[in-house]
Amino acid sequence: MGIRTIRTQEEELLRKVSKPVKRFDENLWTLLEDMKETMYMAEGLGLAAPQIGLLRRVFVIDVGENLIEFVNPEILEVDGEQFGEEGCLSVPKKYGQVRRPNRVKMKAQDRHGNFFEVEGEELMARAMLHEYDHLEGRLFIDLVEGDLVDATDK
Ligand code: ZN
Repeated sequence: MGIRTIRTQEEELLRKVSKPVKRFDENLWTLLEDMKETMYMAEGLGLAAPQIGLLRRVFVIDVGENLIEFVNPEILEVDGEQFGEEGCLSVPKKYGQVRRPNRVKMKAQDRHGNFFEVEGEELMARAMLHEYDHLEGRLFIDLVEGDLVDATDK
């Protein structure tokens, strides 16, 4: 497969709740590889399966440290608060100020079905919560305080 088309905010699918992954097989691995390639090509920090048209509880994140694959993620804890700029590959070239917890702890499964826990702070927490929202059919534009700004106005 390779690079997939990124769906944009007009698509109703982005507003639907994704379904858990049950099979940790080659179809999932192909999906993860394609999501990774698509995310790097688009220069995003994260990408969720609904963004490429699949309602599955899967996302990938790389905020510059390393790539983490999240399958069936669950939020275990959140605390603190951060307020800052956020964007989304499904809302091209728009940015807005979003308030989120400053720290999050999630449990998820890897590509083989093994459970792991990961804690994120600041940018990582923001990315994890942003991608998690995609699995619930939420977009960052729902949370923006103030105006959405065009990238060209920055
Ligand atoms: Zn997004």
